[in-house]
Amino acid sequence: MTFTQERTLATAVRADFPILHQQIHGNPLIYFDNAATSQKPTAVLDALQNYYQGYNANVHRGVHTLSGLATDAYEGTRDKVAAFVHAATRDEIVYTRNASEAINLVAYSWGMTTLQPGDEIILSVMEHHSNLVPWQFVAQKTGAVLKFVELTPTQEFDLDHFQSLLSERTKLVAIAHVSNTLGCLNPVREVIDLAHQVGAKVLLDACQSVPNQPIDVQALDCDWLVASGHKMCAPTGIGFLYGKLELLRAMPPFLGGGEMIADVFLDHSTYADLPHKFEAGTPAIAEAIALGAAVDYLTAIGMDTIHAYEQDLTLHLYQRLAELPEVQTYGPKPNADASNRASLAAFTTGSIHPHDLSALLDQSGIAIRSGHHCTQPLHRYLNISSTARASLYFYNTREEIDAFIVGLKDAIAFFSSMSEE
Ligand SMILES: *Cc1c(COP(=O)(O)O)cnc(C)c1O
Repeated sequence: MTFTQERTLATAVRADFPILHQQIHGNPLIYFDNAATSQKPTAVLDALQNYYQGYNANVHRGVHTLSGLATDAYEGTRDKVAAFVHAATRDEIVYTRNASEAINLVAYSWGMTTLQPGDEIILSVMEHHSNLVPWQFVAQKTGAVLKFVELTPTQEFDLDHFQSLLSERTKLVAIAHVSNTLGCLNPVREVIDLAHQVGAKVLLDACQSVPNQPIDVQALDCDWLVASGHKMCAPTGIGFLYGKLELLRAMPPFLGGGEMIADVFLDHSTYADLPHKFEAGTPAIAEAIALGAAVDYLTAIGMDTIHAYEQDLTLHLYQRLAELPEVQTYGPKPNADASNRASLAAFTTGSIHPHDLSALLDQSGIAIRSGHHCTQPLHRYLNISSTARASLYFYNTREEIDAFIVGLKDAIAFFSSMSEE
């Protein structure tokens, strides 16, 4: 598929997203907060509705018809997710509430039981709090030591620095595939190979890559990968952990309860096989089923198509932002085809506070985020307290970017007239 301004991917799909067709403060909604959560297509909303209206029942434990239908749909999503990320088997996909819970699962089940005093965990300064705080817990409890990869002058993952931190003491490398603030695409292939050479495991925080580009966990050879459904057109409350089968088999359960057991005695229990060993209690059934609908939806468009379209948007966004001298962006500038970064821009505009900017843009119907985007250490590292962030998805358009630039110019003019008074 090729994209022209006459017929873009977005014009083909926007009808699928009812929420986009509304006015905010009298202006058409421009939703540029996709890195925080994506919107949901009708197919996903219907999947939720159909489950509750037609076959709501608990999964796994019932022999009646509705329970069978619910179980089939719930387990069906597992096959879809496994195929979506190219896992070797469905048993390598564990449902979680979100990516944060998936990271905590690995931290508690593997980290707390495996790591010894002096073992090292390598993270980077750009990590989301979700891929930082659980490892702080692990370090505090086990005596493991956290090390942080810094940034290159272009504000990207410094592979040389990473290599200098890597040693026989390194037991885990946990990094973002794509940064939710800098937008850089990290050199994960190289990182994984280098980490494996010293016997370390690698966890990829793929929250910002799984929704936007094709993912092949076998080609990547990562040990674990986590993502959240709500950033890839699915509801909140459902995410997943991918883990290599042998590794998941060796890991003890994280949470105890129903569903995760084989036999229960008063004083001990044996555990269910994978993946149920890690899924205690009644799961988010409707949300998991709807995640399957989201995966179907994205697959039907094609992740290559989505990625190519977003690259085009990225080039346009940065080209237009470059017209505004007050705007400073963070993270790498896009290369010729924007293959080095995500379709988002974190930026500051001189002395205008990002919250003020964001509040003013909201008056024009433009939704962007302001703050630290759950990357407070990164902001400290960059010596800034907060940034504004516009983040795009495949239903956004060049025309929306143009309207955003007009809004931004007006906002900058407004605040400069205020400061002159
Ligand atoms: C959103 C995000 C997370 C956390 O996802 P939750 O759904 O809040 O658990 C972690 N890492 C990155 C890079 C993210 O963008």
